[in-house]
Amino acid sequence: MRFSVIILFCLCVFAWAEWNSEDVHRLFIKRVNLKPGVYTGKLESVMDSAGLSVVYEYHRLLGDMYRPTVTSANDFGSHSRYSKHYLNLALDFRINDVPQNKRAILVENIRKSLGKRFLVLWESQGGKNEHVHVEFIRD
Ligand SMILES: [Zn+2]
Repeated sequence: MRFSVIILFCLCVFAWAEWNSEDVHRLFIKRVNLKPGVYTGKLESVMDSAGLSVVYEYHRLLGDMYRPTVTSANDFGSHSRYSKHYLNLALDFRINDVPQNKRAILVENIRKSLGKRFLVLWESQGGKNEHVHVEFIRD
């Protein structure tokens, strides 16, 4: 697993030598479904990179054909007042279409993959709005 992350990191570093941040954003958007109304137009670059890591973790657990759905970026009026969503530093990923017995593993894998720079929360567990919240907390 560590080896895969290192390979992914090296590929990203290599890719960034050729790609600009808009290319990385486009790649991320191509790898996910966006729930209608989700706005990612001003997403910070760090979230595109994190988003690709999240996609990788979905693929590792559910297969490469799985396409995660982003249910919120900077678009939803009911986040808490100081939510990172309004700073383009948070993403929500749908998890209620993931088999029940794989959800905890997925959340833990995302948490490990993103490390201490990110806060990963499994929100509304068991509810209609169940999702994984990923936010950037520090450099
Ligand atoms: Zn959120």
